[in-house]
Amino acid sequence: MALERYSRQMLFKPIGEEGQAKILQSRAVVVGMGALGTVVANHLVRAGVGHVRIIDRDIVEHSNLQRQILYTEEDAARNLPKVIAAEKRLKKINSEVLIEPILSDVNLDNAEELLVGFDVIIDGTDNFLTRYLINDVAIKHGIPWVYGGAVSSRGMFATIIPGKTPCYRCLFPQVPQGLGDTCDTIGVLSPITDIIGSFEAMEALKLLVGAETNPNLDQLDIWYNSFLQMDISEGHDPNCPACVKHEYEFLDRTSDKQIVFTSLCGRDTVQINPRQKIRLDFSETAERLKKSGKVEMNPYMLRFSPNEDITMVFFLDGRVLIHGLSDPVQAKNYYAKYNG
Ligand SMILES: [Zn+2]
Repeated sequence: MALERYSRQMLFKPIGEEGQAKILQSRAVVVGMGALGTVVANHLVRAGVGHVRIIDRDIVEHSNLQRQILYTEEDAARNLPKVIAAEKRLKKINSEVLIEPILSDVNLDNAEELLVGFDVIIDGTDNFLTRYLINDVAIKHGIPWVYGGAVSSRGMFATIIPGKTPCYRCLFPQVPQGLGDTCDTIGVLSPITDIIGSFEAMEALKLLVGAETNPNLDQLDIWYNSFLQMDISEGHDPNCPACVKHEYEFLDRTSDKQIVFTSLCGRDTVQINPRQKIRLDFSETAERLKKSGKVEMNPYMLRFSPNEDITMVFFLDGRVLIHGLSDPVQAKNYYAKYNG
């Protein structure tokens, strides 16, 4: 029987055969394939979600292996993009579902194109701005989404259903200034990302089978053993720009919320995303850059180190990640100097 592989979750009454049939026909998109995203995608693909789109903008690094469960030392050594490494692994786990890797940043130019048409959006990002952007797309198009975040030994998650629950902006009305605590400044433990990612995947599966989701914003600390449930059912902000006024500031090019030069979440990395889309010629670029430093490449990215401290990772669409600095002005200078 073809459904044999799902027998144990079909024996669970609230899912059953009917729920499994829904899962097999569902479409889910996971934004960010770091610690949370890899856990989420692993569960969804094993559960049989028919179409799983995975989106990430970065490559696998050795410091990811402690918690990003789909990747191996070989993926890091080969500088594979996370989505390519994840697709390879996920296809081995379940060859019967469609796994669609998208090597891209999610920004206002492509967010609707990348996220609309899915039954659920799951947050595997590491930054507030992308979450507000996901929230705008979700509210505008009526797509439920699951928020999750983890840093240090703490994590939290909530399920946002447009028209029913408060939205992410109701819960977090102020866009945090600066970077705050991030996994690159205070670290992160693998058991907490595993747990939060698992809760997110469970909420997504509940949404897909039409079951009741968690009405709380849950907060956990895996080291100090605390578990806090905040009932958010009355948490609507009567003046919420997103779910009340339907003003989608994070999708609005004229809004002051837009930035071209995004400093990534506390990572000593700046991303430069040129407004004009291009198709970068890797061999030509490699030829040119070889004179100024070390160049490595694969079909997905070109990695260039002009000195010991700085590494620039070029992608085919012209996007560049500059590792080793956090000042956007300095990053712009490197970009201008080496982008030709
Ligand atoms: Zn709201």
